Amino acid sequence: MTIPDPIAPSRRVLMGPGPSDVDDAVLSAMARPTLGHLDPDFLVIMDEVRAMLRSVFRTENELTLPMSGTGSAGMETCVVNLVEPGNRVLVGVNGVFGTRMAEVARRAGAEVTEVQGEWGRAFTAEDFRKVAGGEKYDLVCVVHAETSTGVLQDIPPIREVADELGALLLVDCVTSLAGHAVEIDAWGVDAAYSGTQKCLSCPPGLSPVTFSARAADRIRNRTHKVQSWYLDLSLIQGYWGEERSYHHTAPINMLYGIHEALRLALVEGLDARFERHARNAKLLRDGLTELGLTVRVPESERLNPLTTVAIPEGVDDGKVRRFLLDEYGLEIGGGLGPMKGNTWRIGLMGAGSTRRNVALCLDGLRAALA
Ligand SMILES: *Cc1c(COP(=O)(O)O)cnc(C)c1O
Repeated sequence: MTIPDPIAPSRRVLMGPGPSDVDDAVLSAMARPTLGHLDPDFLVIMDEVRAMLRSVFRTENELTLPMSGTGSAGMETCVVNLVEPGNRVLVGVNGVFGTRMAEVARRAGAEVTEVQGEWGRAFTAEDFRKVAGGEKYDLVCVVHAETSTGVLQDIPPIREVADELGALLLVDCVTSLAGHAVEIDAWGVDAAYSGTQKCLSCPPGLSPVTFSARAADRIRNRTHKVQSWYLDLSLIQGYWGEERSYHHTAPINMLYGIHEALRLALVEGLDARFERHARNAKLLRDGLTELGLTVRVPESERLNPLTTVAIPEGVDDGKVRRFLLDEYGLEIGGGLGPMKGNTWRIGLMGAGSTRRNVALCLDGLRAALA
């Protein structure tokens, strides 16, 4: 073989469903020298990451840490640690990620009941109540920000139902964390996971998770070993806790990245950051409407970091996205599942949620449609 040249990816504007644009400060942090995973200087960085994660999740939960792996690893971590074979799990399924959660729970040996919802709409508490039929459940799972459809789910009503069923509540916050308010303690969420490459604007590779005291108790009192060795929190806590005992080698430079990304979010201020996401999402939707395009999802259920828009009749999805990439260096996302081929997904996440990106995307779409 001939040895390839060094890679030289050109800079794009990432306005798809993730990864999102990474702040230069995060990339610089990741280029710092790699330390040993038990180096005292690295242990300080780990502690700071945990403390900042608690602030961003708005929780006091002791068991809060970033798992090695992407958002799906966080999903799997929550499920395999909380679920024992034969447990009854109720999952809201109104998009790709609810579907995935149900599958992960089934593979963990749960008896899964799906609450089927319309793609592109949020759930009401009644949707969950009807399917649950007043029976007891061990765990209720729901997606806060469905990136496949652009829907934001109100969490407190689902918490109420979980209480009625005697269940813990697990929430997917992959696309909401640092883009919409996530109130782990105020909402009484028992377990949640996120990812680095959406509104935290860090490359993909870590999945922050957090567990309430009740959820941590459930994990401590398991009767079966967690089926995954790599994701077993009772082992991983040995490394993140006081003992600092080896489990797997932490992805050191990724942790530098999330350290900087969390710092930037807190320096901006969470409320100011949510406000920025809301403001730019509104500009984008108004602009899309002016172009004659139809924004999907009823207004009160829309996600600010991700807007779904209908592809007009007769317009070639692939051609438009290729044009944007070639002519503007701009990436937007196509649809998934029933929205494949008829929907674009436009992300305004983290560092990418700017007025300039809104203007660029609208100009690109105008040119593409012409
Ligand atoms: C992106 C995403 C995931 C999966 O994350 P990966 O990093 O792709 O593994 C899970 N849930 C939601 C809502 C997402 O947007």
